[in-house]
Amino acid sequence: MKIKVCGMKYQDNIEQVAALQPDYLGFIFYDKTPRHFDTEIPEISNDIKKTGVFVNEDLNTVIQKINEFNLQAVQLHGEEAPFYCNMLRTTTLLKKPIEVIKVFSVMDGFNFKVLNEYEDVCDYYLFDTKGKLPGGNGYAFDWSLLNDYPSTKPFFLSGGIGIDQINDIKKFKESEVSKYCYALDVNSKFELEPGLKNVGVLREFINKLSNNKEMQKYNVDERGYYGDFGGAFIPEMLYPNVEELRENYLKVMAEPKFKKEFDQLLKDYVGRPSPLYFAKRLSEKYNTKIYLKREDLNHTGAHKINNTIGQILMAKRLGKNRIIAETGAGQHGVATATVCALMGLECIVYMGEIDIARQAPNVARMKMLGAKVIPALSGSRTLKDATNEAIRDWINNPVNTHYIIGSAIGPHPYPDMVTRFQSVISEEIKWQLKEHEGRENPDYVAACIGGGSNAAGTYYHFLHEEDVKIIAVEAAGLGVDSGESAATSVLGKEGIIHGCKTLLMQTADGQITEPYSISAGLDYPGVGPMHAHLAKTGRAEFMSITDDEAMKAGLELCELEGIIPAIETSHALAIFKQKQFKPNDVIVMSLSGRGDKDLQNYIDYFKI
Ligand SMILES: *Cc1c(COP(=O)(O)O)cnc(C)c1O
Repeated sequence: MKIKVCGMKYQDNIEQVAALQPDYLGFIFYDKTPRHFDTEIPEISNDIKKTGVFVNEDLNTVIQKINEFNLQAVQLHGEEAPFYCNMLRTTTLLKKPIEVIKVFSVMDGFNFKVLNEYEDVCDYYLFDTKGKLPGGNGYAFDWSLLNDYPSTKPFFLSGGIGIDQINDIKKFKESEVSKYCYALDVNSKFELEPGLKNVGVLREFINKLSNNKEMQKYNVDERGYYGDFGGAFIPEMLYPNVEELRENYLKVMAEPKFKKEFDQLLKDYVGRPSPLYFAKRLSEKYNTKIYLKREDLNHTGAHKINNTIGQILMAKRLGKNRIIAETGAGQHGVATATVCALMGLECIVYMGEIDIARQAPNVARMKMLGAKVIPALSGSRTLKDATNEAIRDWINNPVNTHYIIGSAIGPHPYPDMVTRFQSVISEEIKWQLKEHEGRENPDYVAACIGGGSNAAGTYYHFLHEEDVKIIAVEAAGLGVDSGESAATSVLGKEGIIHGCKTLLMQTADGQITEPYSISAGLDYPGVGPMHAHLAKTGRAEFMSITDDEAMKAGLELCELEGIIPAIETSHALAIFKQKQFKPNDVIVMSLSGRGDKDLQNYIDYFKI
């Protein structure tokens, strides 16, 4: 089925939606709707039919608009008579022939006999819901009414179609009448405000509709699995909390009000969009084209804030006023404490006693931001013990508390929810790269992987683009075979950690092995389930980088580009010494964070 996106209004938004390559874009020339089109149509692909929507408009005006805006189709929303339609098809005043789409409103019933007179004077019918104003009413009609469709003329199906209807649409496609359904017409269900379309949700809708198994194979399925990995392995007492989140997260994220608030905070508070920077000197050195996605310029210095902003808004929407988190190096703790201060919510951060001693500056930050830092005193007194404490807290406070997980890990729906919040990274890369290179897709996307949230966000909109190769960079510590490593894709086996089935470094009898990396953010014994799947299917190429290689690459970026990267990010930067790229290859790398927090480490390492 073809796709028509109707009610376009704003230039930038028209260009962004056009990039999704719908078959029709609709512009409403009717001034009684807030989606009234009153500017210029920017240059868009000729394969997208520009459609003018009119309501009982004077014929001469319609003809004039068709010529002025180079429209390829008109959609007639009023009581236009058959002769009126016929005039448009036969007039010699048009520069090019035009497709005529005649709209009929179908509410509780419809007498299909009215179609008879229109059979020979239009190209398509469009069945919409009856509403106060034409276009964008947001209500669906009962599609089973179409089972009585007496014609063979192809039609557009319209009226309140949104992403929640994917399954209904799939069911509809199995019906007899669907073979005449030529296109789906979408509008208000994909809006942030009248006339402003939500490009991310539209993209997802179009991908899902393509009904192509290929298109879905790297996304999470309904059960929360990426291939063999994922799921929700949780104590029974946590079930209600996780289930509440699972039931609500997609619905909440699709709410225009939610999306608007999220986008606004990303813009005004975080400072997005983060630049996509062409690293000229670095590119010259490695004789290829390297772009850096500057997540280091976000407020708090890394990508983590994208996720904590999303989750704090989710928590508020679900009526939670108490936030808990666990942290290892303190970065996620700081990002969580930050958004709790922003929203005025109580914040409790669990942290291993050893980590508290090692990461004093971040502990101080969290305290300044008003968080309570509770030491985990059991076990090795590091991250996994802090996680255990946080889970215990959540079990004890199921009603008023939300647990903010900081990476693309945990029980379903966390990996998917975190990935979606971070996917703003690849959404921006697409249009930014188009500005730089004239194309949305690079040849490679690359990112370092701890749990895998900056990587998941960087890959998300490229997962199903076959021409984009994916590189995942893990910390090899002192060397993959040294016994001091965090290279999970090489050393890990299937196991369960923090509520999901994934690749995990473990002993022969299944005890989790203590990982090691110079970088606190990559020092994790597992990877998120999406990445386990990308590794197993070969969709992503995994590379291992040692402490030494990373530190040198970090220093090199300082010297060549004047950017001090986080040590996590330095691992990704080290791939250029291991892998040869072609001069014309475009590589987009996530610069996940800034190096301020790592200065002492760099100083000690290089004896600066
Ligand atoms: C936390 C962190 C990482 C690792 O976390 P992911 O979830 O794998 O992205 C990477 N880079 C920086 C700068 C970090 O703070």
